[in-house]
Amino acid sequence: MKNILVSGGAGFIGSHLCTRLINEGHKVICLDNLFTGSKENIAHLEGNSRFEFVQFDVENPYESDVDEIYNLACPASPIHYQYDAIKTIKTSVLGAINMLELAKNTKAKILQASTSEIYGDPVVHPQVEDYWGNVNPIGIRSCYDEGKRCAETLFMDYHRQNGLRIKIIRIFNTYGPRMLPNDGRVVSNFVVQALKNQDITIYGSGKQTRSFQYVDDLIEGMIRTMNTDDEFIGPVNLGNPHEFSILELAEKVIALTNSKSKLIFKPLPHDDPKQRQPDITLAKAKLGWEPTIELDEGLRHIIEYFKEYQS
Ligand code: NAD
Ligand code: UDP
Repeated sequence: MKNILVSGGAGFIGSHLCTRLINEGHKVICLDNLFTGSKENIAHLEGNSRFEFVQFDVENPYESDVDEIYNLACPASPIHYQYDAIKTIKTSVLGAINMLELAKNTKAKILQASTSEIYGDPVVHPQVEDYWGNVNPIGIRSCYDEGKRCAETLFMDYHRQNGLRIKIIRIFNTYGPRMLPNDGRVVSNFVVQALKNQDITIYGSGKQTRSFQYVDDLIEGMIRTMNTDDEFIGPVNLGNPHEFSILELAEKVIALTNSKSKLIFKPLPHDDPKQRQPDITLAKAKLGWEPTIELDEGLRHIIEYFKEYQS
């Protein structure tokens, strides 16, 4: 049994990670300021004596004796991370420093939940880990993209300077139960709109692409990454390499929900990446990992979730 800290543990991905770690028999401390996370997401863990929730902002230093840290604290949806851009950068950068200091003091292993956004609007396709990216440093997405890039830098510098045992994963678009119905991300938006027979909002032409990963596949990849030997630090892409246009996604969601929704077209947000697809050769080789849940199956799960959520 290990003592494991999950920052951002009351969020969408964090709550699935905490659940998996508790089910494996570990002790889990979940740190979260509840900005986009909620107590409902972790309600099923609250009675467990191995689970502790601490309402806490990672902008501040935290002390505890832990063996492993998963650093997930950071809003991930564009509308949430742009709501208070300065706060988003502080969360990414100061949060990384505070979690790295904790790892240094307790000699814990630490994993950073980085993102495909560090590739920006990529000109290398599919994205490989040694691609440095194409990020606008002064745009509306920069608070998130550059905050996450700086966090990766900090992880590498703590590793080089202090010998910390680190892991960096770059997560590609992930969806599943416990996404907020109003968080603005495309899968949750489309499913909620389709279930209500409301217009489906396509931003731009809908020809831009994303590669969607079901949350259970990601959690498996995160645990496998943490459990690799100390030599392997990443960064490693974790995503589903099957790429879809946003129009294709909308058509699938309408078909799977038997919805009467119509497509409507809205302006494309600034700096919206045109394409995104992970090259997962490294993850396959080092983790023996690849996604097992394809889009149709994953969409059925999240459709069921939102049907129950709304009833
Ligand atoms: P989320 O918004 O559901 O979860 C983020 C959690 O962090 C929330 O519970 C929130 O309350 C908490 N948080 C935010 N600021 C905090 C602070 N200052 N102190 C403490 N807690 C704070 O988002 P998610 O989709 O679960 O994303 C989790 C992590 O994975 C994020 O770091 C995100 O950047 C990364 N990620 C997610 C995706 C995706 O597609 N979901 C893709 C790439 C990377
Ligand atoms: N998008 C869309 N309609 C929506 C929400 C998003 O067409 O209602 C588009 C968005 O412009 C982007 C893609 O879907 O091209 C993925 O958006 P999301 O915010 O989910 O993730 P990210 O842009 O961070 O990959």
